[in-house]
Amino acid sequence: MSYVNTVSSNDIKPDERLRLLIVDDDRDIVESLQDVLEIECDDYVVETAHDISSATNKARAFHPDIALLDIKLGAESGLDLIASLREDTPSITCIMMTAYRDVEYAITAIRCGADDFLYKPLDPANLIKTLKRFQLNQILLRSKLETERRFRAIFEQSFQFLYILDQDGIIQDINKTALSFFNNTEEELIGTSFAQAPWWEDKDSVADAIMAAIKGNTIRKELAIEHCHIKYTFDYTFKPVKDSSGKIAIIIPEGRDITDRKEYENNIVSLNQSLEYRVLKRTEELKIAKQEADMANNAKTNFLSQMSHELRTPLNAIIGFSQILTMGDASNLTELQISNIKHIEDAGKHLLSLINQTLDLSQIESGQIELNIDELDLSKILRHVLTIINPILSTKSITLTNHISDDDAPILHTDEQSLTQVLINLISNAIKYNSDNGTIDIEAKKISDNFLRISVKDTGQGIPNNLYDTIFDPFTRAKNVHAIEGSGIGLSLCKKLISLMGGDIGFTSVESKGSTFWIDVPLRQR
Ligand code: ADP
Repeated sequence: MSYVNTVSSNDIKPDERLRLLIVDDDRDIVESLQDVLEIECDDYVVETAHDISSATNKARAFHPDIALLDIKLGAESGLDLIASLREDTPSITCIMMTAYRDVEYAITAIRCGADDFLYKPLDPANLIKTLKRFQLNQILLRSKLETERRFRAIFEQSFQFLYILDQDGIIQDINKTALSFFNNTEEELIGTSFAQAPWWEDKDSVADAIMAAIKGNTIRKELAIEHCHIKYTFDYTFKPVKDSSGKIAIIIPEGRDITDRKEYENNIVSLNQSLEYRVLKRTEELKIAKQEADMANNAKTNFLSQMSHELRTPLNAIIGFSQILTMGDASNLTELQISNIKHIEDAGKHLLSLINQTLDLSQIESGQIELNIDELDLSKILRHVLTIINPILSTKSITLTNHISDDDAPILHTDEQSLTQVLINLISNAIKYNSDNGTIDIEAKKISDNFLRISVKDTGQGIPNNLYDTIFDPFTRAKNVHAIEGSGIGLSLCKKLISLMGGDIGFTSVESKGSTFWIDVPLRQR
């Protein structure tokens, strides 16, 4: 009990002042004792009484820590007070006083529950010494009771189910939350086996957890409970608690009702399963639909390429014969006839280019086109492209500037024929859809180590906003370009070719100001 020494009267805070009840039928003695204590000890609150009935009433309201009781209270005995005082204040210290210096008295007093015994007349020094001794005990008792009270409150007020088990798994304590759930009293459960409680669905699992906890392990497991024909799931933790010698003294099972959470989890699992099943089913349906669509697409491509071949033969004959008609001696033809034949030739050529482009598109779509990837000199390709474009350009008052100098033109790594076709399409569009006296600028810049961006910038009418998303779809044409010859296939062809080449295509445009179409083409890797 070394800690007793650490508590002194200085440790008593004002609100912790000790309550002392003096009971003696001799009012002079009571008064003199009160005086002594007031002078010597200012850490007592003193109440007095002169008979059993007033002492009992005062104690009931006052809850004294120490009672100084005269054994002889007139016709009554102070010893009779001990039991009733303890009933109201179990921690009370009772010190008996008597004028009879008889050991028998002392023995009787101790038997009746007195904590000490003092002879009258009281020696003030001895009285104070005795009181101080019990005062220290009381302080310790108070703090112990307070600690117990706090822990009890935590134990009882916890929403979790809390138990204290001994090493044999016998219930020593159980909190109110658990008691009220099972509709039991403490008396019914304390002293019974926790693992054998009627509510467990799997008693062995509970016994295993207790065994493991006794060996020093903290165990956590989900346990099923059935109570009043309802099934619950609890999340239980079994914690071993050691005593001051380090031995496991008690096990604290702590349970939390997770029935609702478990139900949600199960619902989510079954929802997931049904979702997975639906996704699988849908994927299968989509696979079949895709196969059917692929088949239909192949049939369409085959039909197109077949038809294109069939159409081109008579079409070439129409163009050829109309050219023959106007060539050589055409003096027997009127001007109107010559102009009509020219119309036939132009319409035939337009139809032929349409058929050729449609054939190209269908060939790419059906994977019939093969790229020949090689190292290419961009300046050489552009020279070739501009030679092809020149006849169209020369009929317009448009200025085309190629900003890519021959000296530092980068080396590309792509298919020559496809790149040439894409550049011709973009530049001829820039010419077709440009304004009178407009300009075209061809530029290139590296956008990364792997790609070169080639852009064709014009000052034409621009792309209407509503076509931004569909401009690369086949047969998309702006409403205001119908007077200009075109099929609406060129850009979709470009997009398909560029993506085959592993590049990208895009544009920026401002209506009535112009457009810039760009392509990202793979560069040679060193
Ligand atoms: P086509 O030129 O034969 O119509 P394209 O696929 O090359 O077919 O172009 C599709 C449409 O995109 C054109 O009809 C035109 O409306 C628009 N377009 C393409 N390039 C330009 C451009 N440089 N300036 C303005 N509009 C353009």
